[in-house]
Amino acid sequence: TPRRCSVVIVGAGISGLTAAKVLSENGVDDVMILEASDKIGGRIRKEEFGGVTVELGAGWIAGVGGKQSNPVWELALQSNLRTCFSDYSNARYNIYDPSGKIFPSGIAADSYKKAVDSAIQKLRSQEGNNNHESFAETTSTPKTPIELAIDFILHDFEMAEVEPISTYVDFGEREFLVADERGYEHLLYKMAENFLFTSEGKITDSRLELNTVVREVQHSRNGVLVSTEDGSLYEANYVILSVSIGVLQSDLISFTPPLPRWKMEAIRNLDVMVYTKIFLKFPYKFWPCEPEKEFFIYAHERRGYYTFWQHMENAYPGSNILVVTLTNGESKRVESQSDQETLREAMQVLRNMFGPDIPDATDILVPRWWNNRFQRGSYSNYPIYVNHQLVHDIKEPVGRIFFTGEHTSEKFSGYVHGGYLSGIDTTNALLEEMRKDDGRKNESQAFL
Ligand code: FAD
Repeated sequence: TPRRCSVVIVGAGISGLTAAKVLSENGVDDVMILEASDKIGGRIRKEEFGGVTVELGAGWIAGVGGKQSNPVWELALQSNLRTCFSDYSNARYNIYDPSGKIFPSGIAADSYKKAVDSAIQKLRSQEGNNNHESFAETTSTPKTPIELAIDFILHDFEMAEVEPISTYVDFGEREFLVADERGYEHLLYKMAENFLFTSEGKITDSRLELNTVVREVQHSRNGVLVSTEDGSLYEANYVILSVSIGVLQSDLISFTPPLPRWKMEAIRNLDVMVYTKIFLKFPYKFWPCEPEKEFFIYAHERRGYYTFWQHMENAYPGSNILVVTLTNGESKRVESQSDQETLREAMQVLRNMFGPDIPDATDILVPRWWNNRFQRGSYSNYPIYVNHQLVHDIKEPVGRIFFTGEHTSEKFSGYVHGGYLSGIDTTNALLEEMRKDDGRKNESQAFL
């Protein structure tokens, strides 16, 4: 027999947990939170590596120090999370060419300025669709290793320099790296204490079920029936789906009746970005480890090939760990090969930069967000000119199915605070619907 509750929440990442919090604050405690993996947090996920805690997913609290306070920064302060300031802008002055020489800062600055101008021009030509002048005529395509490297940093990391991004405009331009042995997830556990039973930092509440993979949502005017991979059934008035856009695009969850065409189109049309942080542990340091050398770039002939590097000495002094970030095609390529092969490639790049005598890494960690069937990517990627219909359709409920998660946040998609704020928005919309539903029931009772 199905288990009955008022609302089923699918997914215990930040958006799903925030939804449960808002429901609880409004007196709705009769919920079930179903989480496919073996822990809460979703894309906030730590792992022990090389003697410290590293973050496989979200690492930064982005958007701090502005006029408005970032709610995730508030949560971090409340839970005493240890963070350290990151200055990405240094990266452009620490660019190594394929033979290991650092590009003089004048050349780097010139290339950077050229790339920003070209990106702005490209945007302007997209802006007015009636402008028929093609991008190729107005801007040059990056070709040399330094142009490719800068193009990669600009487009895969720093678009804020080209176009205002709500996160930085609203919350400020500073970014803080979470460097806490308890992990970024600590703020989620702190938040969960307010509405779930916990004991010694562990959630013991039977309303949270881990290792529970939702496979089907049946829905009608009267309610929803949620089925899981292990054959359990949950009957509820509503369901909140917080799974990622990548999961919605996959066939993990089926809907009966199927989702309407406008919803399916919106899901299909939203891009998924893959972003992979590879961690490497060394017996000793051979890289410059001053704070302003935290980020460094390798300019290869191939765009995005082990381009963006970070040392962890600011976060964890003495940890001897380097992180290299890959995106999209390179991420997928590396996910499909052995970690040994990836280690070999990364070591070759490091030897190009720092010489043949550097020691081999003693350990490597390669997260696989793309091949993880509960994620299928790292985060949603809206075009710079957001199509408002697309955002609207992504988050619009379908009958009793409500959608939440970073991908439903118009202003902050792709960020932890996007997940948090979307959890609040979606739940407020659901509470409004529940009130209307109660009103309708009362009316029909009065009539009888
Ligand atoms: P999720 O955290 O993905 O939660 C959804 C949950 O649903 C998951 O726990 C999943 O296991 C579960 N689930 C999926 N399918 C099912 C199913 N069928 N049944 C039951 N449960 C299911 N943001 C920042 O602000 N700063 C950063 O520095 C940053 N860096 C990032 C780096 C990486 C590598 C990645 C992957 C993300 C990064 N992000 C960053 C983005 C940020 O992590 C996300 O925006 C945010 O955590 C998403 O939260 P969510 O609740 O929307 O989704």
